[in-house]
Amino acid sequence: MINRLSTMYNLQLIDDQLDQLEELRGDLPLTVNDLNSQIQGIKDQIDTKEQEKKDSLAKRKVNESDIERLSESLKKFKAQLYQVRNNKEYDALTKEIDHSEEEIEKLEIENVQLEDLVEKLKMEIEEVKPQLVSLQEELKVKEEELKKIIKANEREEVKLSDQREKIAAKVRKSDYNTYMRIRKAKGGQAISTIVRGACSGCHNVIPPQRQLEIKSNKRLFTCEACGRLLVSVEVAEGVEANH
Ligand SMILES: [Zn+2]
Repeated sequence: MINRLSTMYNLQLIDDQLDQLEELRGDLPLTVNDLNSQIQGIKDQIDTKEQEKKDSLAKRKVNESDIERLSESLKKFKAQLYQVRNNKEYDALTKEIDHSEEEIEKLEIENVQLEDLVEKLKMEIEEVKPQLVSLQEELKVKEEELKKIIKANEREEVKLSDQREKIAAKVRKSDYNTYMRIRKAKGGQAISTIVRGACSGCHNVIPPQRQLEIKSNKRLFTCEACGRLLVSVEVAEGVEANH
């Protein structure tokens, strides 16, 4: 049992050191992530607008050829108007002419709107581009900073990760899960010990009887106040001495 407790405490000490290295990075990883997603957001925005611009230009082209075709027919209908033989033919022809004129007008109006839309999209794209550039510059700076910090501690981190892997392999699966769950809930420290009769994690006093039980290292104990695992001072000191 004492080995089981020591191994877990050992894991905690290594995680503490890894956490310290992580802390050196401060907000940088978050900032880099945030900048990346902001940049992606603007890029997506630009892509959407570019696509809309392309579609509008294509639609305008289709409209233009429709207008051309309708104008040709209109010309023909108007020429035929001089050759009609009766009212019925005349009516049919004027109906065609009206219809073609209406269609042409509709398409012309649409093309003016499309042109306006294309201009608006162009402006909107130009407007966000400087923002994109400045975000990309900021990202570059932050990434460099982060890289420097990571590089400075690389060796230490690799060594610790290595040690962690070896120790974690020795921890029972169920203990490991418990440890990780508490570690996550407590923002790092999953195991505490007894300092001046209190839990070193939350400083709540541990009853003397409980202290004696913990001292006997016969099973896993958790602090009733904070939920962290509690190991005896003897286990903690033993592991710390070997660090
Ligand atoms: Zn506690």
